[in-house]
Amino acid sequence: SDIAAPPMPWFGLDIGGTLTKLVYFEPTDINTAEEEGYKEVETLRTIRHYLTSNTAYGKTGIRDVHLTIKQFEIHQRVGNLHFIRFPTNDMHIFLQMVEAKKLSSLADTICSTGGGAFKFEQEFKDVVNMRLEKYDELNCLISGIHYIDSKIPNECYYWSNLDPFNSEACEKVPFDFRDPYPYLVVNIGSGVSILTVHSRHKFQRVSGTSLGGGTFLGLCCLLTGCQTFEEAIEMAASGDSTKVDKLVRDIYGGDYARFGLPGSTVASSFGHMNISEKRDAATKNDLARSTLVTITNNIGSIARMCALNHGIERIVFVGNFLRVNPIAMKLLSYAMEYWSKGALKALFLEHEGYFGAVGALMKLIS
Ligand code: ADP
Repeated sequence: SDIAAPPMPWFGLDIGGTLTKLVYFEPTDINTAEEEGYKEVETLRTIRHYLTSNTAYGKTGIRDVHLTIKQFEIHQRVGNLHFIRFPTNDMHIFLQMVEAKKLSSLADTICSTGGGAFKFEQEFKDVVNMRLEKYDELNCLISGIHYIDSKIPNECYYWSNLDPFNSEACEKVPFDFRDPYPYLVVNIGSGVSILTVHSRHKFQRVSGTSLGGGTFLGLCCLLTGCQTFEEAIEMAASGDSTKVDKLVRDIYGGDYARFGLPGSTVASSFGHMNISEKRDAATKNDLARSTLVTITNNIGSIARMCALNHGIERIVFVGNFLRVNPIAMKLLSYAMEYWSKGALKALFLEHEGYFGAVGALMKLIS
């Protein structure tokens, strides 16, 4: 566009119910003369250096280095796009950092989205004297997906060779997302939102469920005493959900042939847990696995009904619930394919949880 670029630094902020996501553009085409023109050039350099030379910030801030997009072109500038997250619960620590690095001397507003842009608006004003320019989270999500996907090769992929009994056989395969419409977006964050997308600007929230990533993590903490999402996923990876769930074969002794239900289908999630011996036999890992399978299959089932309702074949799953979570991705992929007899395709995006923040950054510079 011809509109002058806003002064650096360029950030997009997405303050979610569990995680806050920050996208930062680090210019690499810096022209020293131009930079000297800024009155706060030292502050600008300090911030750039701080963000790009560290991969952890405070106790809980993390830069997802593997997601960095190098040589990224945006608004006639070239640089690296960095992806940073921290628990929304630690917002006060982030604000201390903003204050310490004197960010507010460079910019008086931050383009932001997510419910927290509303919730923390006053705190940003009071503590660091910055204004949160608020944008709708689903708007940002869709424009973020569109932007990254049109620019970054191999962003979109699916899982092939799906085999529920041999998940090692599955592999990631790139998917050409250039002409994706119509598609469904299933954003699995703390809760779940489901959108139909018919074009860049035409989309609608059609459904959702409160049984989402927050539910998985919350129940896992209750049932196993685990402390983190990573721990919950690790436990689930070595657990066996059939010790916890009642399957069709536990009821029928085999398949329910009349309606084509294999014996291995879950008939009742956690359905074994009313029996005291079964409770004693189930390990924490088994409970974690069952929680993961329960939440994932429920989301998959709702997504499938939405796709059917709207005559849509491609379903894009995003949100940080899918982070380091191949079990959920493969389950979703298998469920979409199996229950639709191959008509539905589950798609995934590498920058899974960051599209809202990317969308907020796009608002700043376009
Ligand atoms: P929100 O915007 O609601 O915070 P996200 O897309 O960021 O949603 O996803 C949050 C979910 O991601 C959590 O409920 C949890 O299931 C999962 N998750 C992945 N990594 C983490 C983490 N490091 N800490 C907490 N939750 C995580």
